[in-house]
Amino acid sequence: MENKELASPREIKKLLQTYNLACHKKWGQNFLIDRNIVNKILQEVGAGPEDYIIEIGPGPGILTGPLVDSGAKVLAVEIDHGMVKILNDFLGTNERLCLVQSDVQKVNLSQLCCFYWGNFPPVKIVANLPYYITSSLLYRLFSREIPWEKAVLMMQKEVAQRLTAPVSSPDYGALTVIGSCSASVTSGFVVSRSVFYPPPKVDSMVITLEPRGFVNYPEVEKDFFELVKRAFAKRRKNIVNALHPLAGKSKEELKETVKYVGVDPGKRAEELTAEEFAKLSRLIYNEKG
Ligand code: SAM
Repeated sequence: MENKELASPREIKKLLQTYNLACHKKWGQNFLIDRNIVNKILQEVGAGPEDYIIEIGPGPGILTGPLVDSGAKVLAVEIDHGMVKILNDFLGTNERLCLVQSDVQKVNLSQLCCFYWGNFPPVKIVANLPYYITSSLLYRLFSREIPWEKAVLMMQKEVAQRLTAPVSSPDYGALTVIGSCSASVTSGFVVSRSVFYPPPKVDSMVITLEPRGFVNYPEVEKDFFELVKRAFAKRRKNIVNALHPLAGKSKEELKETVKYVGVDPGKRAEELTAEEFAKLSRLIYNEKG
């Protein structure tokens, strides 16, 4: 049995009523009800029998069904027991689908993949994300918690815009810098709030990310994240004052390092490019330049 009947408010309402479920705001339960958007997302994913896909927050399964139908192996992590019950009833017999009822914030995705799939190639990540976990999930992808080759993610439009914000713009921040060092946004389209049930207060955007290795010094990746977050936590201060104290360096040493990178030490974090941050981090942490 497949749940193809989800593409209207009436159908989703009926389904929820049948299972005696409500939409939980705290879990960002705004369900997609537009087949065209589903198809555009699927086109971006390009799923096929060779793929291993992690879907986060499958809900009643408007994306899950077609992903499984593509022949891909799908690991779906959903927090809500009620949604898992629906998914089990409609798709549970499909051996390509592993359904995990859990809070994705608490699961070790790498262990989960190993448990279900053993050896697996880099995965594709697909999600219509609940807004409250978007940033933390992005940072997990950027830190390569699991090997991934593509992520097709629906998120709040404002967050998606932060990923591609130009230097010195108000949206330019830690997520922009860390994101652009770790992945590239290869496409994106805006999704109106009207194609969800219930409609959220803001519009969304679907973006496709592909990892890149430009930072390429994993031993200091955590330090790099820390440096960038620290710099933007005090974004009104100049970069030296914002960073100090860091890695046991005096202000003078930090100032010299900033200069060595070719950056005026009077500049603020929002005026440094991602490349400059990467160089700075490399110099501060492993002295290789
Ligand atoms: N994929 C469905 C769709 O496109 O209609 C549902 C998307 S809805 C925006 C977000 C989904 O994520 C909900 O089903 C919600 O229950 C689930 N969710 C929320 N928080 C979660 C968490 N921490 N871990 C796993 N799933 C979560």
